Amino acid sequence: MIEVKQIKKRFGEHVVLDGIDLNVQNGEVVAVIGPSGSGKSTLLRCLNLLEQPEAGMIQVGNTQINAASYTKKEAHALRRESAMVFQNYNLFKNKTVLENIAASLRITKKMSKADAHKIAFDLLEQVGLSDKAQAYPVTLSGGQQQRVGIARALAVNPTALLLDEPTSALDPELVSEVLQVIRSIAKKDTTMIIVTHELAFAREVADRVIFMADGHIVEEGNARELFDNPKQERTKRFIKQLD
Ligand code: ATP
Ligand code: MG
Repeated sequence: MIEVKQIKKRFGEHVVLDGIDLNVQNGEVVAVIGPSGSGKSTLLRCLNLLEQPEAGMIQVGNTQINAASYTKKEAHALRRESAMVFQNYNLFKNKTVLENIAASLRITKKMSKADAHKIAFDLLEQVGLSDKAQAYPVTLSGGQQQRVGIARALAVNPTALLLDEPTSALDPELVSEVLQVIRSIAKKDTTMIIVTHELAFAREVADRVIFMADGHIVEEGNARELFDNPKQERTKRFIKQLD
């Protein structure tokens, strides 16, 4: 479960998140859409304190922090509740695929190499890449690298998976294999927030879609409601322009 109350974030004079409220239930898949610069990535990054909001409350799983004042220990606990999948994979180049996935288990869970590798191998099977366990990221396609990125995020068994435009760096022909993996994870009741420009995909997998603009949540609803019958002018314009 994720709960966010009145998160505020600014960069200098620029208010990027202007009091965001957000609730995500266990097992819910929420898609966040909106124009470039609207604060989508910043919102995701605030949830695991990759960015530090100035105010507001963030709860992920059993960990809650007050953004205005929290301890290192609380920050550490909050970060461990979620895992992020980035647009550009961010894999360790000098580690094999298997080691990339096992690394976080070895570090954060102090797991033995054998145990970590076993979990990593199971995850590689889930994303259809068990034959690439010993390969280095540079030898994989973008789609394969992103599937490793997803397996790595799942390795720590996070309360929530946060995906920031996981397919937007991919060549068009590689998008569907990654969406297929995300689709299969969504079906397993994984709590997920996915920032995406793939409106058709959002419509298909998301239980709820949130439209952001200028640091606000302008409108939210189930996918069909929001795409077929948007209420706000701003949402209408955005959806029309992408059609
Ligand atoms: P996109 O669809 O292009 O990814 P976004 O909705 O994810 O956009 P953000 O990346 O959250 O938008 O950025 C929101 C605003 O905050 C933008 O105007 C951006 O320039 C600004 N911004 C983001 N990160 C920083 C930073 N580290 N320093 C200064 N400004 C930043
Ligand atoms: Mg972004």
